[in-house]
Amino acid sequence: MREDMLRYDLHCHSTRSDGLLEPAAVVRRAAERGVTVLALTDHDDTAGLAEARCAADEAGIALVPGAELSVSWEEHTIHVVALGIDANDAALQAGLESVRAGRDARARRIAAALERVGIHGALEGARSYVTSERLITRTHFARFLVETGRVREMKDVFKRYLARGLPGYVPHAWASLEQAIGWIRGAGGQAVLAHPGRYPLGTGGMRQLVAEFRDRGGAAIEVLSASHGAAQVAQFAALARLHGLKASAGSDYHGPGESWLDLGDLPQLPGGSVPVWQGW
Ligand code: AMP
Ligand code: MN
Ligand code: MN
Ligand code: MN
Repeated sequence: MREDMLRYDLHCHSTRSDGLLEPAAVVRRAAERGVTVLALTDHDDTAGLAEARCAADEAGIALVPGAELSVSWEEHTIHVVALGIDANDAALQAGLESVRAGRDARARRIAAALERVGIHGALEGARSYVTSERLITRTHFARFLVETGRVREMKDVFKRYLARGLPGYVPHAWASLEQAIGWIRGAGGQAVLAHPGRYPLGTGGMRQLVAEFRDRGGAAIEVLSASHGAAQVAQFAALARLHGLKASAGSDYHGPGESWLDLGDLPQLPGGSVPVWQGW
């Protein structure tokens, strides 16, 4: 297909992490919506890729094997999207498993923190939303808090609970940036700094993060994201150019009714951006 006919969405989730749709359903929805190149990027896991691959072959679209890795950088949690990884790579799998392994104890600490503000049964409640026994996320707690009427909408959960400085937030040590980029590159993939507009960093902190990300072997910045308004798109496109990084595009779709953008709902990259898919 001609390059200008391709539509990329390089960030989304299935039930193998905190999405609402099965991997095959994510792929079918993407194809119906005109996506021609889709990366499934579940949190800290590649378990959905085999099913997604079959569905993509059936739907006639390209599937880019991916994942979204949780990273601790300074005192911040950063997400790094992996694109084009060999999911059979042993070091990558061991790394992902080590990151997932911390999630159960963290969930117990989240539940204990919610208990302290009078919210009971959050661990069992969150677990009732878990769709992969391999991992539990804050999204599952958020669904429980919405269901029990504590909060009206998912996005409000993170304004009142679960985010830094709020009840229900607990610090956690994820992978280091060096480890995450190392696992991704070792598995033949490209590392993308996910939704930088979400990180509460000033201009100096952001430059430091991006410079360190590039120096450790990162390939691209996610310029187009549900988390970014027009000004941020321009800002991160410029930052990518400044640091010699490519630009990526992903909806971060999690499921019907829960996401800012649907699959493929992405504009063109700003002029002057080098797409992460250049050379694929
Ligand atoms: P965790 O990896 O367990 O920390 O969970 C992170 C997930 O929580 C993200 O991938 C999002 O799906 C969800 N999340 C975090 N912040 C927000 C927010 N402000 N609004 C909606 N969902 C959020
Ligand atoms: Mn998520
Ligand atoms: Mn993320
Ligand atoms: Mn995501």
